[in-house]
Amino acid sequence: ARKAALSASTGPGATSDGHKVPLLANVGGPGDVPAAVEAGAEGVGLFRTEFLFLDDSKQAPSEEKQVAAYRAVLEAFPEGRVVVRVLDAGADKPLDFLTPADEPNPALGVRGLRSLLDHPEVLRTQLTALAKAVEGLPVYLEVMAPMVADRIDAKAFADACREAGLQAKFGAMVEIPSAALRARSILQEVEFLSLGTNDLAQYTFAADRQVGAVSRLQDPWQPALLDLVALSAEAARAEGKSCGVCGEAAADPLLACVLTGLGVTSLSMGAASIPYVRATLAKYTLAQCERAANAARSADSADEARSAAQAVLSGE
Ligand code: PEP
Ligand code: MG
Repeated sequence: ARKAALSASTGPGATSDGHKVPLLANVGGPGDVPAAVEAGAEGVGLFRTEFLFLDDSKQAPSEEKQVAAYRAVLEAFPEGRVVVRVLDAGADKPLDFLTPADEPNPALGVRGLRSLLDHPEVLRTQLTALAKAVEGLPVYLEVMAPMVADRIDAKAFADACREAGLQAKFGAMVEIPSAALRARSILQEVEFLSLGTNDLAQYTFAADRQVGAVSRLQDPWQPALLDLVALSAEAARAEGKSCGVCGEAAADPLLACVLTGLGVTSLSMGAASIPYVRATLAKYTLAQCERAANAARSADSADEARSAAQAVLSGE
């Protein structure tokens, strides 16, 4: 029992019957790496590269500066996975040189991948810097685009990655309901999906993630959100590809079990949450997680979904 407790507090993420669910860290730059390593992260599931860009709102950081920052993160996970998200500017993270100043609804405007497709030189520099940063390192680099709406977006991103000569897997974030609904079509262009549940909740419920008054609708236990997660995970499974979660939802230990039951293949979160998620996941079998997921999806509210999953997992 002592050995089991020990492995549940350090080893790779898995259910009690050995179904592996890699536990990855969300990082904003090299400064977040020590905590991720300390927590036993199996890699990085979301490197939010926009933090590199926030120092100077007038221009992008030089290629050299980007190479150094990417390399510092990539070096920390030999034989591990590092998923880098290309710049996600706009909406709550505007940049003067990318974000139009006069948008009535910035969250629905030119943000994420849309900004990069409007400024291909910024995307090109970022992808070239990543290609240089990974040279000679044994890490598995994956690169993904934020705010992919459809197959056209996914193809544009994959084309840009190929043109930059990047040796990596290319993926799409699922943050817009259209991407979840047509995940199979998007997967014709990219090799993996990553669910950004923070934005996916915002766009599914028409509830601004920065407005406290509508926070009830931002609850990731909302059954409608779970349905979109299930659709995405099922599409990925049908295509033989992976579908992770890198939004806040992954950091809730009970919800992490439900997401696993929905077919999600990896979970990425702030490093501090990893030990709790690892320990909780290790208590239940995959079949229990699946039953909890079904119970949560049958509920009519976030609170009911949470209670239903809890009841299943505690054997009530
Ligand atoms: C998300 O939207 O869930 C996500 C992971 O991206 P961010 O929180 O950086 O928008
Ligand atoms: Mg997002």
